[in-house]
Amino acid sequence: MTRPTRARISRSALSANLARVRAAAPGCRVIAVVKANAYGHGLLPVARALARTDAYAVARVEEALALREAGLAHPVLLLEGPLAPADLDQAARFHLDLVIHSDEQLGMLAHYRGPARFTLWLKFDTGMHRLGFPLETFDAVLSRVKSLSCVARPLRLMTHLACAEERDHPHTRRQLERIRSTLSARGCDLSVANSAAVLTLPETLQSPRAAADAPTTPCNWVRPGLMLYGISPLPGRDAGAVGLLPAMTFETRLIALRRVATGESVGYGATWTAARDSLVGIAAAGYGDGYPRGLPSGTPVLVDGHRAPLAGRISMDMLAVDLTDHPGTPVVGDTVRLWGQGLPVERIAEAAGMIPYELVCGITQRVAMEVVD
Ligand SMILES: *Cc1c(COP(=O)(O)O)cnc(C)c1O
Repeated sequence: MTRPTRARISRSALSANLARVRAAAPGCRVIAVVKANAYGHGLLPVARALARTDAYAVARVEEALALREAGLAHPVLLLEGPLAPADLDQAARFHLDLVIHSDEQLGMLAHYRGPARFTLWLKFDTGMHRLGFPLETFDAVLSRVKSLSCVARPLRLMTHLACAEERDHPHTRRQLERIRSTLSARGCDLSVANSAAVLTLPETLQSPRAAADAPTTPCNWVRPGLMLYGISPLPGRDAGAVGLLPAMTFETRLIALRRVATGESVGYGATWTAARDSLVGIAAAGYGDGYPRGLPSGTPVLVDGHRAPLAGRISMDMLAVDLTDHPGTPVVGDTVRLWGQGLPVERIAEAAGMIPYELVCGITQRVAMEVVD
């Protein structure tokens, strides 16, 4: 038997989630965020399944080139822009769009001597205080950019929200106020919303035309990542509650079964002790596959479709499950689902004290990826 640990990626779930984004952001164009190997789901299969998006966004030039080599001709946006002048040559050669957020990057553009005309997304800081030009420098930045010969028109604007997952967060209200007063009145394309904002802030997502005489924040491009993978960005609300389908199912199989007598313990550190004579299953997945070691005993998995609790510490290659109360007759070879359909990764992340982003991004290279319809 080959090692049965695999992540199954559903194309139909990915495309249904893209449709969910479009329904939540009518009139907006969609930049599908596929950075970090498409949040651990596999860059190229995901990008192909999402081919009806308007654009892709990545964090690394290498990922952008992989999209081009796969024949995808969509706009591809480098979320942190060029980090060195050589990135501009690659961007020129492969027609990549650039987020520009710093004076250093303006300097690189000023020194660029090639023939390209770059499509720019000028990123302004409205309160996240991570990347972006200070809002007070808006006019100065724009006039500097307009003096550059390597820049295509029209210019586009973007900013990022720090607290969009909490509806009515005062910080979000402050950011939206700044967006309204400085960015949204310029008649430029504007991108504000990540997944959380797509779900919580429909008022930020109206096209300029729709919002012309409404006191709203026109934003005509959205930048969802997490929700495309069928994961809810909202605390306490799983994918199903917000109309998303999980795209990844992380599974393995039982490779051993054993009886453990009352008082005997299981696993490293002897942290779990049988309170009764128990049936324990050993499954072929561990932290070496990206299943977090911090998950406590009691965390659910699905063994042949039935919930069963983890027993003891996660090892590198294996984990133990208490099957004493399993309603069926577990046998070696039974499927053990770690998250996915029927077992929200949101719940597992919560049990680990992590966020679902970390879990799906943390799937390791030895896990077989399987793409299904
Ligand atoms: C990663 C990223 C996104 C996507 O965020 P999600 O929460 O996954 O939707 C959007 N915008 C920027 C700038 C990002 O870095």
